[in-house]
Formats: sequence, C-alpha cells, structure tokens
Amino acid sequence: MKVVIAGGHGKIALLLEQLLSRRGDVVTGLIRNPAQAEALEKAGAQARLVDLEKATGDEVARHLTGADAVVFAAGAGPGSSAGRKDSVDRGAAIHIRALLAGTDLVVCTADGVAVRRVTGHLARRAGLTAVLACVLEDGALGEILRLRPWPGHGCLTCRRHNLAEAGGLDPEPALDAGYGTGTPHRPMTAVGSDLHLIAHLAAKTAVATLLERAGHPDQRLPGEHALFGLRRQPDWAPPFDLGHTAELRWLPATPPRSGCPTCEAP
Ligand SMILES: [Zn+2]
Repeated sequence: MKVVIAGGHGKIALLLEQLLSRRGDVVTGLIRNPAQAEALEKAGAQARLVDLEKATGDEVARHLTGADAVVFAAGAGPGSSAGRKDSVDRGAAIHIRALLAGTDLVVCTADGVAVRRVTGHLARRAGLTAVLACVLEDGALGEILRLRPWPGHGCLTCRRHNLAEAGGLDPEPALDAGYGTGTPHRPMTAVGSDLHLIAHLAAKTAVATLLERAGHPDQRLPGEHALFGLRRQPDWAPPFDLGHTAELRWLPATPPRSGCPTCEAP
C-alpha cells in the first residue's frame, strides 16, 4: 500500500512509518523542516517537504495523489501557543474538510479531546462514519467509539454528557471547555502492546463498518461503543466497571442532545 503521513516527524508518525515500511508498504511523510528528513529515512519513509500552514488545499491534495491511505498526524503539539494552535490545528481542519469528499470512513487515533471532537464534527458534517480509538485513565481502559451520522446517534460530546449524567466517568472533561482552555490534558499512556490491541480493534471496527454497509450483515458489530479492560477496574461507575483484563463490553449509541452544534443541522 502507498501511505502518506501528514506530520511525518511526530512521535506516533515515526513509529507508524517504521511499522509500515517493515511490512513492505511505501510510506511518505510530509514534513516542514528539512532537518527532520533523516529521522524519516531511518524509519523507512520518504520525506517530502510541505508547509501545511501555508500550502493550499490543491497543493496538499497533489501530495496525496495515488495514496491508498492518508494519516493526518500533524498538530501544533502540547504547550504551543493559541496562535500556533489556530494556524496549525484549525488550518489542518480546513485541509481535512477538503479531503473528506473522497473518503469512505474516518479513523482517529489522535491523543487529545479537541482533535477527536473536531474529527467527529467534520466527519458528521461530511456524512461519514468516524471511528475514534483511544486509551483512557492512564492506560487502564481502551475505548472505540463509532460515530455514525445517523439520527439517534449522538456525537462524542453528546455521548460523554449522557454517560456522565447516568453517573459514569467523564474521562474527557475538557470537552466542556472552550478550545485550548480546558482541564490540562492527560496524555494517552499505555504500554505498546495495549496500544496495538486497541489499534487492531479500531481497524476491525472500521473494516466491519464498511463491509456491513456493502451488504455483509455477518460483519455487524454488537454496538457502537466498545470498552476494553486493559486493567481491571471493578470499582468504577458503570459502564466503565470492567471486572477483568481483556473484558470487552459493547454499548449502544446514545441520542444527540438538543442544541448540540455537531449533531443538529447547521
Ligand atoms: Zn452532539
């Protein structure tokens, strides 16, 4: 496969480049700083120079021509200023919107609630399903959220609200706050093998979703929200009270809340 990674010098991007190139995939990483090219080459990826903050949508699209998969791993990074978050993260959202037209489904494994929220929002606006994968609570819990743009299926924010109201955990409280002003973000920490497990579950969810839509009802998954115990947490509030490691629990979708800017038509 030909894979292009925008933001090719990030921590996750370099790992992914290594894994893909070892598998025999042809990987290209888009970077802004030529000094980063060597690290990409060591990871088995070709480096291509492009400044995502300045490039037009057409320029970015040219770099993606012929790719079987595109991974958007660019971001302003933790601790950067509001101005930089605006130019990089908001700029990225504008680029992504243009790319969604030729996309079947969106997978987001980004660390950070703002990115996950924006991805879910843009996918819903484009009428696409988004699969969000993450590890929560210091590596104790893996989670896959399938957000389908269907009536009765709420977005990430609506689901969190509904769970918190029902007395469950609110593992991403910054969702309530304004952009860049929320509770300090706790990074996704997990051992590598746990991340692999959750990534595989996300990949299965994505493929099953596409196959189900293509007329394979045997690919139907048991729910829209999967919780996977990476460590047992019997004392947590339901539905997060997973009694043993590797317990997998599927939950249904929850409805949109009224007034939600993502779920309600603009
Ligand atoms: Zn919503």
